[in-house]
Amino acid sequence: MNIAVIGAGTMGNGIAHTFAQSGYNVNLIDISQESLDRGINTISKNLDRMIAKEKITDSQKEDVLSNITTFTSLEEGVKIADLVVEAATENVDLKLKIFKDLDAATSDNCILATNTSSISITQIAAVTNRTDKIIGMHFMNPVPIMKLVEIIRGYNTSDETTATIMELSKKLGKTPVEVNDYPGFVANRILMPMINEAIETLYNGVAGVYEIDTVMKLGMAHPMGPLQLADFIGLDVCLSILEVMHNGFKNPKYAPCPLLVNMVRAGKLGMKSKEGFYDYSESRKADKVATMFT
Ligand code: NAD
Repeated sequence: MNIAVIGAGTMGNGIAHTFAQSGYNVNLIDISQESLDRGINTISKNLDRMIAKEKITDSQKEDVLSNITTFTSLEEGVKIADLVVEAATENVDLKLKIFKDLDAATSDNCILATNTSSISITQIAAVTNRTDKIIGMHFMNPVPIMKLVEIIRGYNTSDETTATIMELSKKLGKTPVEVNDYPGFVANRILMPMINEAIETLYNGVAGVYEIDTVMKLGMAHPMGPLQLADFIGLDVCLSILEVMHNGFKNPKYAPCPLLVNMVRAGKLGMKSKEGFYDYSESRKADKVATMFT
């Protein structure tokens, strides 16, 4: 089975790594050569870390890298693909354009999957002539480590497509879970309201950043508190997923907390901007609460 992965960013390079490590030929496609080089460099560093932990050998690393070929042309990269996994930037118009192009550039039997966190699979499928072969394959970050793949069936996704993708995910050593296509799917529908409630709790002055995260870490055995997790995911990403659910369900329970909205407007996006609920200017560890919340 030939695989093509669109986008060599955080998720795309992890997805390419995971398929290549399971022995699949992967064509990794991005619009910029620079992103492709950065993606391959990240995969190489992650493989080095596995060598250091004695999980793989040097020659296995070479095998994984030799299974990946990079392309800046979508048409060239997907020509012989049996499965395309799209992991480009989260933007509806961009994804609709990519899927229209994929529908024209791939063979009729090719399954087209998307790693979107929040865009409707049914909406994406509607721009193609193969709605039965469009499916969500929602990997978690970091892809080579996290076991879950949320498999999202669009309105017209066939049983055959779903079975193929469930089986394939198992071959990657993952645990696939089948869900239906409604806003937030399952992972974000449950996670984002928890994060939003943690922010609301802070906003209402019930407790501070450290206290809220400690309650959830030590009291609920979560590996990371919800505010730290929000910083890790990116506060802009959390806001945008909450907005998708708020618009999709028209239910006020998904309305983003005004503090989250303000932080995004102020450019405090979490780890990637070096400040969110925690201050990351000196360390990527969440051990210093941002001045705003002390
Ligand atoms: P990213 O910004 O790290 O990478 C996106 C990549 O897509 C960039 O390298 C960009 O150059 C490339 N790209 C943009 N337009 C393209 C095009 N037309 N053709 C080919 N490549 C193109 O983003 P990311 O965090 O890897 O997210 C990718 C997808 O995965 C999004 O749909 C996102 O919602 C989803 N996702 C992200 C996470 C996460 O934790 N980051 C988790 C699950 C799902």
